[in-house]
Amino acid sequence: MKMSECNGQIKCDFYGCTHLAKYSFSTKGFLKRELNFCDDCMKEMFECFSKACIPKPVEAPFKRKTKKETK
Ligand SMILES: [Zn+2]
Repeated sequence: MKMSECNGQIKCDFYGCTHLAKYSFSTKGFLKRELNFCDDCMKEMFECFSKACIPKPVEAPFKRKTKKETK
């Protein structure tokens, strides 16, 4: 997936959004055409993404075993 800034007069692809797109995603055939997003929608998307992909702290996600296993 490739993202580029578009300078054309393309409308943002988000439903209900009337802004002009600032960014353009090329999906190389995954979708039939490029996706275009404006600055605001991009930020909103990014917030959603960052919620979905929470950067894991160094110690997480596996708790270290504090007790030695006894057999
Ligand atoms: Zn938009």
